[in-house]
Amino acid sequence: MKSKKKFYITAAIPYTNSAPHLGHALEIIQADSFARFNRLLGKDVRFQVGTDEHGLKNWETAKKHGKEIMEFLDENVSLFKKLYNGLNISYDGFIRTTDRKNHYPGAIKLWEELVKSGDIYKKKYNGVYCTGCEAFKAERELESGKCPNHPTRELQIIEEENYFFRLSKYSGKVSKIIESDKYKVVPNIRKNEILSFLKIANDISFSRPKASLPWGIPVPDDDSHNMYVWCDALSNYITAIGYGRDEKSFKQFWPADVHVIGKDILRFHAAFWPAMLISAKIPLPKKLFIHGFILSKGTKMGKSTGNIIEPFGQIERYGVDQFRFYILGAMPLESDGEYSEELLKERINNELAGNFGNFCYRVLNFLNKNFNGVIEGIDKNENVIAELNSRIAKTREHYENFNFSLAISEILMISHIGNKYFQDNEPWKLMKDDKKKTHEILGLCANIAKNLAILIEPVMPDFSANLQNQLNVKNLRWEDINFELKNHKIGKDEILVKKIEKKDEQPKFPLDLKVAKILEARGHPNADKLYVLDIDLGSEKRQLVAGIKPYYSPEELKNKKIIVVANLKYAKLRGVESQGMLLAGDDGNGPGLLAVEQSNPGDKVYFEGFENKTEQAAYEEFAKIGMIVKNGRVYFEGKELKTEKEIVKVERAKDGARVR
Ligand SMILES: [Zn+2]
Repeated sequence: MKSKKKFYITAAIPYTNSAPHLGHALEIIQADSFARFNRLLGKDVRFQVGTDEHGLKNWETAKKHGKEIMEFLDENVSLFKKLYNGLNISYDGFIRTTDRKNHYPGAIKLWEELVKSGDIYKKKYNGVYCTGCEAFKAERELESGKCPNHPTRELQIIEEENYFFRLSKYSGKVSKIIESDKYKVVPNIRKNEILSFLKIANDISFSRPKASLPWGIPVPDDDSHNMYVWCDALSNYITAIGYGRDEKSFKQFWPADVHVIGKDILRFHAAFWPAMLISAKIPLPKKLFIHGFILSKGTKMGKSTGNIIEPFGQIERYGVDQFRFYILGAMPLESDGEYSEELLKERINNELAGNFGNFCYRVLNFLNKNFNGVIEGIDKNENVIAELNSRIAKTREHYENFNFSLAISEILMISHIGNKYFQDNEPWKLMKDDKKKTHEILGLCANIAKNLAILIEPVMPDFSANLQNQLNVKNLRWEDINFELKNHKIGKDEILVKKIEKKDEQPKFPLDLKVAKILEARGHPNADKLYVLDIDLGSEKRQLVAGIKPYYSPEELKNKKIIVVANLKYAKLRGVESQGMLLAGDDGNGPGLLAVEQSNPGDKVYFEGFENKTEQAAYEEFAKIGMIVKNGRVYFEGKELKTEKEIVKVERAKDGARVR
């Protein structure tokens, strides 16, 4: 029996102080597609993911939300898991760095190995520290005295004793290994970047005193210090598979075949990590794939720029496979990618539905209608087959190089060739003169469709399974790519991808209104009439500041389902951030909340005939909208406010009250 070749792939473990965003979705989809591609090749794949949960930022964000640290982390981790499930991510293991049983032993062992090699030492350190990056900043990294990533934050001047790791001792060695591609850094532009960094790399701070980093893994034999992120988080790639607790399992999968990361953490993975592994006498991983950022309207998405695109919303609106198809195609290998919903719709309509889906459907439909669904002979058109084979080989090469956008282009070319071949042969006419030849042409077309189902599987797993099902085959692998499927009866044909209807004619309502459940109401620390509300918006949790304290008790508010403006620019009210606004009717005698009963948190709230805008809105825009109360309901331009399940009710407010 031939044993399968193991393939160990990891995605970076995201930091859990907030809900996942589009960048997280991109990375996990890339890693997933690469894992699936290697499974198609017949390898024994282990796909490892997880979360990075220690550090000051998590500690402080939990405190800010008034939560126990583990409760706070559990909530955010569950959002990442929810996203991964929604994206159809085929991970085999999920490691949390707060896992005392599975993660701590390996992180501690790694530290001890570095000590044994004489590479950990204590030093007084004097530096500028950014709490946003959770890192010390060198003078040359600052822009006008501020952290370029966090220009609004005050930098801290810190003098303290830290443990250090002798990175400088290994930078020459790591350079050679990267230069020689023994640890292959892809794309090349990142390889060059890390080689120049290694020339100037200093030793790195490896611990912080507990007083300044209260949330972390204690340093072995020194209870006054916690490990800084490097040994704590990077070690997840080895602890997850057994390092420090299950040597047999560890040896089975290590070294990693690929780490997948974003360009912002290049140094940690291409300099710190290999140096730590050499010091600990652990073999190095083989490859590092680095993706760029996904931008919107040319800039990085952020709450302050107002161009945030929520991955949950995109999946819901367009479907998971369509989303995967678009985002992988939108991301070039060497640079940043641009996410545009307009382009997404175009690509789905023209390429996925118009080209790929249309080809497969017309072939299967023609076979079923005219030949009872049976593939008999196959047309021996050598030119077409040769061109297809060459494009199939290129597709494989692009997948292997982690270049998904080019792999997708090749696949679309293959279905384009199939379409043209079908069209040029005009089988609907040829039927009358030469039924046998027509049948053979359809035989070749059906084989192209079968090959397409395999080629697209890493990108669109459900779509591929559906196409295979219609072809009456299943679990095809890369080795099944050929033009030999015959004497075979296919299944029922169905449309594979529906076009997205353009709703341009539908008038827009400028606010994104959603149902939110109030989890807790507490008094604002600096204002008598304000509450700070924790709310559940379905795919995320937020906090609101609302001036309803004189009118509602915390008990009345708890578990109430209200209506929230979700796309309003975040604002600080008396020093506390309000991440949106609740809606209430006001007739001059105090606010009455808009509320629902049967709807769920996150449900869309709308006026019939209007489409909610999801782009960020400013408060001024909100203030202009005239929503009026009548008979305990809310009206805008004659339409009443509702969800899919019910009509929204207004508490207390009299007819004519304004909603704000
Ligand atoms: Zn910073």
